[in-house]
Amino acid sequence: RLASFPMEKRLDDFDMSFQPSLDPAVIRDLSSLRFIHHAENVVFLGPPGVGKTHLALALGHEAVKNGFRVYYANASSLIERLVKANRENKLEERIKALAKFNLLIIDEMGYLPFNSEGAHCFFSLISRRYEKSSTIFTSNKSYGEWGEIFGDHVIAAAVLDRILHHCTTLNIKGDSYRLKERRRQGLLS
Ligand code: ADP
Ligand code: MG
Repeated sequence: RLASFPMEKRLDDFDMSFQPSLDPAVIRDLSSLRFIHHAENVVFLGPPGVGKTHLALALGHEAVKNGFRVYYANASSLIERLVKANRENKLEERIKALAKFNLLIIDEMGYLPFNSEGAHCFFSLISRRYEKSSTIFTSNKSYGEWGEIFGDHVIAAAVLDRILHHCTTLNIKGDSYRLKERRRQGLLS
């Protein structure tokens, strides 16, 4: 497992039957890692607990296994680090360092909104990766709500335009797996 990964998740451990809104053929296609070869993006959208982080990490695991360089970051802490770099006149350097990764996983877009400096830094990062390398995003917010994340609808549109140009979006509309586990434990005890 990679140092930047918060935990190890496998595709084999993901119960597809629990999320009927997910097309197994799409997951299978993603696991072929063709999207990385083509510098395409993947976005997992959905409410908490439906497996967005699990699937993102599992694809990251497959990518590492196949020799790709992968980096995981929580969206808020990534933005924080980019903003800090920007203030030290090192944004370009930081973005260049991230460009070395074939796959960047940006988890939990939308839990915390960005300020305008953060949005600007994020736009620079996305522009640099556009059509060169892959990024997987997870978010609890629909695309229509991304304007709120960026606090700026013009920047949000510009970012989305680049992300979505070559992108697979998986909208997971199901129950929380965490809740299911809690319910099951409730039945057993
Ligand atoms: P999200 O990122 O959408 O909030 P997570 O990916 O963190 O959700 O999933 C919550 C927990 O439930 C994790 O421990 C994850 O491994 C597990 N989980 C979620 N969906 C499934 C599933 N379909 N099969 C197996 N485990 C799952
Ligand atoms: Mg998550």
